[in-house]
Amino acid sequence: MLMSQDYAVVFYRVLGVRETLFLRVISPYFYFTTGVNSCTIVLMQKILLYYKFTPIRDPEAVKLWQKTLCDSLQLRGRILVSQHGLNGTVGGDIDDLKRYVKATKQYPGFKDTVFKWSDGSRENFPRMSVKVRRELVGFKNSDDEFEVDEHGVIGGGKHLKPRQVHELVEQYGDDVVFFDGRNEHEAKIGKFKDAVVPNTNTSRDFIAELESDKYDDIKNKKVVTYCTGGIRCEVISAMMKKRGFTDVYQIDGGIVKYGESYGDDGLWEGSLRVFDDRMTVNFSDHTKTIGECTHCGGKTSNFENCARAECNDLVLICEDCKQNPDLLYHTEACRPKVEAV
Ligand SMILES: [Zn+2]
Ligand SMILES: [Zn+2]
Repeated sequence: MLMSQDYAVVFYRVLGVRETLFLRVISPYFYFTTGVNSCTIVLMQKILLYYKFTPIRDPEAVKLWQKTLCDSLQLRGRILVSQHGLNGTVGGDIDDLKRYVKATKQYPGFKDTVFKWSDGSRENFPRMSVKVRRELVGFKNSDDEFEVDEHGVIGGGKHLKPRQVHELVEQYGDDVVFFDGRNEHEAKIGKFKDAVVPNTNTSRDFIAELESDKYDDIKNKKVVTYCTGGIRCEVISAMMKKRGFTDVYQIDGGIVKYGESYGDDGLWEGSLRVFDDRMTVNFSDHTKTIGECTHCGGKTSNFENCARAECNDLVLICEDCKQNPDLLYHTEACRPKVEAV
């Protein structure tokens, strides 16, 4: 079912079935739903996801250029620019997104950026935001951790296509260890089978984790790092190699690309947490639910914002428990104290 708020909708009254079919043939970007005496033409929208590590001498100038470009194409989304490159998610009409890709590739450093197309629309974002940040990925002081040249991050893990991930596992079996590069809560609802999930609430905890002795026993194994779209692993894999991990890999395009190839019939299990209003994405109609409700332990992939206004954490809570407003707090500490009478 198409949601009208997801698309720009134009009504063409009294269009016959034959014309409708003809228009459908000439333009793949239009969807049609026909009624008795009306036909709805829906302009198709999509979301683009991309990142590029490349040295940027003047991030402010790139920011202004990107903001002007996106506004002129009526895109919405989030873009970060840093001295290390560009990271963005933007939604809009397919034709406008194509124009955006073409214009962005004009900048020499962004020429071979890989743009991933995903389902969604500009309505998935409240506005267009373009910001300059010290770091492209939020690790504390990670800009001291690695350097970037025109080929990307220097000293990162080897890139694997989804198929090559399977080949590695077939060849080396238990000697291959999956390492979750995301925050802990994301792995609660979906991860690679038997993956190591570090204890991290924010990306900032990552360096402390890597510097502990917790992972000494896997330092000589084949460690495959993974994250949502691949960007965090560019940095994580470099940080791991610097700390004595000897054979580090990263999945090209992250879980998103892997899921497109293997869905729920490979080594991935569960739902993928995403950072727009969709909250989670499933790769097939037979996604396994691996998350457990914080309160009753029932299977769920449903995250809700903690009801305490000042808290930015999420609570993993099933549809039943969610009905009880007293349970919508992510820890006891966030639940309002009942005053003793
Ligand atoms: Zn529950
Ligand atoms: Zn809370």
